[in-house]
Amino acid sequence: MKYDYDLFVIGGGSGGVRAARVAAQGGAKVALAEEYRMGGTCVIRGCVPKKLMVYASGYAEMMQDAEGFGWTIGKRSFDWGRFIAKQDAELDRLEGLYRKGLSGNDVSIFDSRATVKDSHTVELASGELLTAKTILVATGGHPFVPDFKGAEYVKTSADMFLLKSRPERVLIVGGGYIACEFAGIFNGLGSEVTQFYRGAQILRGFDDEVRGHVAEEMINKGINLHVGTVVTAIEKTGDGLRVACSNGSITDVDMVMYATGRVPNTAGLGLENAGVELGRNGEIMVDQYSKTTCDSIYAVGDVTDRMALTPVAIREAMAFVETVFNNNPSSPDHELIATAVFTQPEIGTVGLSEEDARDKTEIEVYAAAFRPMANVLAGRDERMLMKLIVEKHSQKVLGCHIVGPAAGEMIQLAGVAIKMGATKQDFDRTVAVHPTAAEELVTMKEPVR
Ligand code: FAD
Ligand code: NDP
Repeated sequence: MKYDYDLFVIGGGSGGVRAARVAAQGGAKVALAEEYRMGGTCVIRGCVPKKLMVYASGYAEMMQDAEGFGWTIGKRSFDWGRFIAKQDAELDRLEGLYRKGLSGNDVSIFDSRATVKDSHTVELASGELLTAKTILVATGGHPFVPDFKGAEYVKTSADMFLLKSRPERVLIVGGGYIACEFAGIFNGLGSEVTQFYRGAQILRGFDDEVRGHVAEEMINKGINLHVGTVVTAIEKTGDGLRVACSNGSITDVDMVMYATGRVPNTAGLGLENAGVELGRNGEIMVDQYSKTTCDSIYAVGDVTDRMALTPVAIREAMAFVETVFNNNPSSPDHELIATAVFTQPEIGTVGLSEEDARDKTEIEVYAAAFRPMANVLAGRDERMLMKLIVEKHSQKVLGCHIVGPAAGEMIQLAGVAIKMGATKQDFDRTVAVHPTAAEELVTMKEPVR
């Protein structure tokens, strides 16, 4: 049978764009449909604008610290409109680059929603039908907001990059990556920030000591963090929103942001027309090669709910192209993925937490909490945390956790060593780079536990 395309990709985000471009570079005839803006969550309403906001919000502390080094800093103010205009221009530039990367490789772009009609047919919003030998679903996810009285008043991460002005009083609900990152952003930009988390400690799943350290520093920086707190209702008042909680408290704010997880974009996608099986949260079920239960349909990225990170979506896309177009069956490797949380202070982490490692094997823990050099003259009490989790019998480093400035940059490199199977002795025989904070990783001599 003759198809219109070798590959039709639904979704122009991190995974979809990469798969389309690389498959086309290899000679395949490729089309891609994107219903919103090219680049997807990461470029348009995720990693990139979020990191720009993190940078913007970090200047307040930098200016304070500069005084400790002899600088006199004049009157300070932050102009939200000026920042957002520059951010928008940068996103436009990046979107253009993504588009060019596709069209320059002869990928046909459809600026349209697309759905699955059958195992080889895609339907555009116009009703046009297009066929492909293989369909790749890379539709990502969207924010989840639980159902409660007043839920219609809340905003999510997707709205944060479109705000016309900076809200003065912000409530953030959730305790994961997005909630904690945005608590730091608004706090740094000068808003009064309250954060409600339903459990006992934020950042569930991370190393417990890391969680405690970050929560404490976030509170020290001025975030009103309340754990064990659940919103029961929100009502509009004359000048803002009134939030009622399960503990009976009332909080008045200008904006409520929910960051309570994300849901895969599979609703209304027509996947049932091709027998594609979904999981409990609507995620597409795939095998180790990202193939769905329909032989001609594959899925990568957040829509499969494996690990919702941009570099992971890209790896899955590359493995998909290797498997389907280069006759080289390849599975994406989800082991020992380093990740950063751009909280303030920042987290860099790879491998097992102390608690998870202890459940698996006998371990030694090397840890140091210290005031980085720059903080002394700055008069800042904030401490850094470095931690290595080591398997006792093999001396293999099972996990590395860093909290503090540039933790994300450091963990990328520690991740290489740990992925290679480095032992504690490999760390020990690596000569320190001095004076840095990172040198602590190779100078921790005695286990603390
Ligand atoms: P997406 O990038 O979401 O792309 C899916 C695309 O499909 C979207 O453009 C959507 O419009 C389109 N689409 C959906 N349905 C259809 C349809 N039917 N037809 C046509 N088009 C459709 N990850 C990191 O690694 N580091 C970070 O710092 C980071 N920060 C983040 C911050 C925020 C606020 C958020 C929300 C996420 C962040 N992530 C981060 C996660 C990262 O953005 C995602 O893991 C990544 O974008 C997933 O890529 P994807 O290709 O699976 O989906
Ligand atoms: P997360 O899964 O990280 O966090 C969701 C949070 O919401 C958790 O604290 C969870 O609590 C809480 N929650 C869930 N349901 C409810 C509810 N009904 N009521 C109250 N609280 C609730 O999701 P995010 O939305 O923060 O981020 C999604 C993903 O995007 C991340 O997991 C990550 O993979 C990716 N991302 C990566 C970033 C990075 O690399 N720096 C930055 C931002 C996002 P509980 O813990 O109790 O379940």
